Amino acid sequence: MNEQQRVDQAQVKQVGKKFVKQEDNINRIKNTSSEEMIAKYFQTSYEPQAPDIKKARKRRKEDIQFHYDFAIPEDIEKIGKGKKFLIRTYGCQMNEHDTEVMAGILIEMGYEFTADTNEADIILLNTCAIRENAENKVFGEIGHLKPLKLEKPDLIIGVCGCMSQEESVVDRILKKHQHIDLIFGTHNIHRLPQLLKEALFGKEMIVEVWSKEGDIIENLPKARKGKIKAWVNIMYGCDKFCTYCIVPMTRGKERSRKPEDIIQEVRHLAAQGYQEVTLLGQNVNAYGKDFEDISYGLGDLMDDINKIDIPRVRFTTSHPRDFDDYLIEVLAKGGNLLDHIHLPVQSGSSEVLKKMNRKYTREEYLNLVKKIRKAIPNVTLTTDIIVGFPNETEEQFEETMTLMEEVGFEAAYTYIYSPREGTPAARKVDDVPEEVKKQRLHRLNALVNKQSAESMKKYKDKVVKVLVEGESKKNPDVLAGYTEKNKLVNFRGPKSSIGKIVEVEITEAKTWSLDGIIVENMVEVK
Ligand code: SAM
Ligand code: SF4
Repeated sequence: MNEQQRVDQAQVKQVGKKFVKQEDNINRIKNTSSEEMIAKYFQTSYEPQAPDIKKARKRRKEDIQFHYDFAIPEDIEKIGKGKKFLIRTYGCQMNEHDTEVMAGILIEMGYEFTADTNEADIILLNTCAIRENAENKVFGEIGHLKPLKLEKPDLIIGVCGCMSQEESVVDRILKKHQHIDLIFGTHNIHRLPQLLKEALFGKEMIVEVWSKEGDIIENLPKARKGKIKAWVNIMYGCDKFCTYCIVPMTRGKERSRKPEDIIQEVRHLAAQGYQEVTLLGQNVNAYGKDFEDISYGLGDLMDDINKIDIPRVRFTTSHPRDFDDYLIEVLAKGGNLLDHIHLPVQSGSSEVLKKMNRKYTREEYLNLVKKIRKAIPNVTLTTDIIVGFPNETEEQFEETMTLMEEVGFEAAYTYIYSPREGTPAARKVDDVPEEVKKQRLHRLNALVNKQSAESMKKYKDKVVKVLVEGESKKNPDVLAGYTEKNKLVNFRGPKSSIGKIVEVEITEAKTWSLDGIIVENMVEVK
C-alpha cells in the first residue's frame, strides 16, 4: 500500500474529534546569532547524543520506575485559559496516542483545541523519524511556520516526537530554524507543562531531550480522538535492533506497563462506551519479558482482556519472533479478540532477513503462518515489507513476491528502504540503484493491490459487521466504518448508527474498500 492508498483508506471523517508567548521570542530571533545559541544549549540543557546502537544495547538491565504522581504545577495550572493549541502528528499509532496525551495535558492547563494554524497560540509538531521523507515533511512544515511566527511573536512552536531524539535534527533546528521555541523528546512528554512555562517566560529556545528512559508515567491525562475507538499502550520502546530501524534509539528500551494498569484502562474505556481498543507497542509480543517478579505475557493479557465487555480488541505491532503458541491458543478463543493479525515480515528472503537482524527465516515465518491458520482458519493476515534493502538482489526480491502470494496477505504497507543515521544498515555500501528500488516497489504494490482486490471479492453479497465511525470524507450522505478484519465499508444508513456495530450487506467490492447497504431492521450487534 502506498501513501495515497493509505490516505484513501483512512477516509472516515472523524465526527466530533475535537480535543476537547511574547515579543521576547521575536527579539531573540533577530538578535541572537546561531553560534551563541548552540554554544549555550550544548553547555546547559542539551547533551548531544547521536543514535548510538552500542550504548542502546547496554541499557536493558536498567531498572524501570513506575510513577503515578503526575500533576500540573499550581502556578501554571490554568495558564492556557482563553488560548488554543494545535498538534500536527506524523507517523505511527504511537505518535497518534502521544498526541492524545499532550492534548490531554494542554486541556488540563486550560487550552482549547483548534484545527486552524492562524488561531493557535501553541503549535506542536509530533514528528516521525522512521524514513527520510517523513523527516523532510517536518522540515518543510517548520519552514512554512516561520512567517506566522514573525507575524505572531507570541506563538509558541514546538518540535517533539522521534525526530527530536536525533542529534542531527536538533543541531539543524538550532542552526537554521531559530523561530522554534521548544524541542522535547519522547521521554519528556510528561514535562510539557514545565517546558511550556520556560518557553513562555524565557527568552531562549528550550531544548530538553532525555536519553534516560526506563520510566513509565501512569496517570497522564488523555484527550482521546472520538468516543468509538481507543489506543491503549501496553509497552514502550523496542530491544529488537533490526539493522535498518531507528526506533530502538528514539523510543528507548522495552518496558511493559503493569497488567493491572492496562486492564483498568480497558475496563474504564468499556464503561465509557468505547467499542474497540487497539493495544499498542512497537513489538507487543515482547510484552512482559521485562517483568522480574511475575511470568505474564501477551497471551495472558489478551486472555484477561477477552473477559472484559468491550466488543473489539486489536493489537499492533507483532514481531514474528516472539509470537508464541500460548498467544495463538488465546487468540483462537475469538470473542472480542479479532481474527485479523498484522504480522510484519519485511522480506521473503532468509538472507535479507538475516542482514536485517529479524531473527527468523522465511521458513520459520511460513511455519508460524501455518500454525496461526490451523488454530484460526478464517484469519486475515496483513504485513509490512521493505524493498531495496542494501544489496538486495533480484532473486531475493522475487522471494518477497512469492512469499506475498504464498501467505496470501490481504494488505501490506510497503516501503523503499531509507538509510537512518546511527543504524548498522546505513553504514553498508549499497549497489542497488534507486530506479531499481522504485521499480521493485511498483511491482510489489501491483501484487498487493491484486491480492487486496481478490480478498474484497469474497464479501460481495455477504453481510458483515461494521463498526460505524462517521460520515465518509467524500460524501456526507454515506457512512463509513470497519469490519472485524479491518476492511473499510461505505454504506447508506441512518446517522444514528454512528458509534454502533451494525450489519451491512456488501453490494460492491473495490480494491481497498467495500460498498454496501445497511440491513433492514437494524439491530445493534455486539
Ligand atoms: N515494530 C514493528 C515491526 O517490527 O514490524 C514496526 C514498527 S515501524 C514504526 C513500521 C514499519 O516501518 C516497519 O515494519 C518497517 O517496514 C518500516 N521501516 C522501519 N524502518 C525503516 C527504514 N529504515 N526504511 C524503510 N522502512 C522502514
Ligand atoms: Fe524497529 Fe520493529 Fe525492528 Fe523494533 S522490531 S527495531 S520497532 S522494525
